[in-house]
Amino acid sequence: KNSKLPNIPTSIFSTMSKMAVDHNALNLSQGFPNFPSDPVLNALVDQAMNDGFNQYAPMQGDFELRMEISKKIEYLHNHFYNPDTEITITAGATQAIFTIIAATISKGDEVIIFTPAYDCYAPTVELFGGKIIPVQLKPPFYSVDWQEVADKISSKTKMIIINSPHNPSGMLLSEKDMLQLQDLAEKNDLLVLSDEVYEHIIFDGNVHQSASKFEALAKRSFITASFGKTFHNTGWKIGYCAAPERLMKEFQKVHQFVVFCVNHPIQKALATYLKDSHHYLKLSDFYQQKRDFFLHLMEGSNFKIIPSKGTYFQMLDFSEISNESDIAFSERLTKEFKIATIPTSVFNEGKKDFKQIRVCFAKTDETLAQAAHILKQF
Ligand code: PMP
Ligand code: GLN
Repeated sequence: KNSKLPNIPTSIFSTMSKMAVDHNALNLSQGFPNFPSDPVLNALVDQAMNDGFNQYAPMQGDFELRMEISKKIEYLHNHFYNPDTEITITAGATQAIFTIIAATISKGDEVIIFTPAYDCYAPTVELFGGKIIPVQLKPPFYSVDWQEVADKISSKTKMIIINSPHNPSGMLLSEKDMLQLQDLAEKNDLLVLSDEVYEHIIFDGNVHQSASKFEALAKRSFITASFGKTFHNTGWKIGYCAAPERLMKEFQKVHQFVVFCVNHPIQKALATYLKDSHHYLKLSDFYQQKRDFFLHLMEGSNFKIIPSKGTYFQMLDFSEISNESDIAFSERLTKEFKIATIPTSVFNEGKKDFKQIRVCFAKTDETLAQAAHILKQF
């Protein structure tokens, strides 16, 4: 029988992390911190297990955690999501994205994504018979040409997927971008999937423009975020989806059959932790220091670098160093120079002319110093 996704290889994140292990290379490829999550939070998970939260959580997620998420969004973006009916806890943002698409996209629907794009959007849309309509972000700042977006909207367009702060480029959507999106979404009656997993990692005094901030946009948006990025524990796979009730109803119809519910003790721990920790408000400073430390060490290198404005990723342009494809270059870096990175053509439908690799700077200063030392040899 035919494959449902004939052209989809194993994810680049698995491929590069495995290559890093096989070649004993520094792993700056897959995005995850190499420092621990807060011992206070870890202890709360133990406590939740010992307190007996070891059976199924409610399908929508632990109520206290949904309350804390609702309060956080209201505090930061001045928009109220009803914790009873408008928030669901998910197994990371990946499951939220899968569920949003499964609940909304049918055969023949068109979905606009911005390339380079995080790897899970397109295959998931295709799995449900949807068609991807890519709009290329314009380097060097990966800005959106909203006229091009308007031109690509058709009567079949069902959804636009956005991601700010943006993986892999580190670019941000501005308030003006969000207003343009809101306008187009309203005029054409579109849904929006806003992937905000790096919402708390944003630099140089910029402000995160959540889709929840814009009243008319919030009415037609699914927002997803991930605790793994915020609390340094990507392996816990906990995130959430927030959406207005009419959309959340559709989401939950699917969610209950994808996972039913997710890890109970971790939800309990996060609910308690969020009550008295404002850890996430300090996250931007924490990662800005890491970005600046790395960029300082990279001064004088032959990579062309535009500082990341958000996320924990930095793009490095190697066009003055090598003519190789980004895949060949990053393989050589891993095997011969013992540093694993992500070739960015994988986010660009395999286009060959992207002479850029992505490094993750969610690493100890020691790892970043070793990485810069290797990269400066080029
Ligand atoms: N969206 C983007 C842009 C991401 O970078 C990631 C993870 N790296 C995800 C979604 C998935 O998040 P999670 O690990 O919580 O599933
Ligand atoms: N989102 C992470 C990244 O961009 C990886 C997630 C994964 O491994 N699927 O590196």
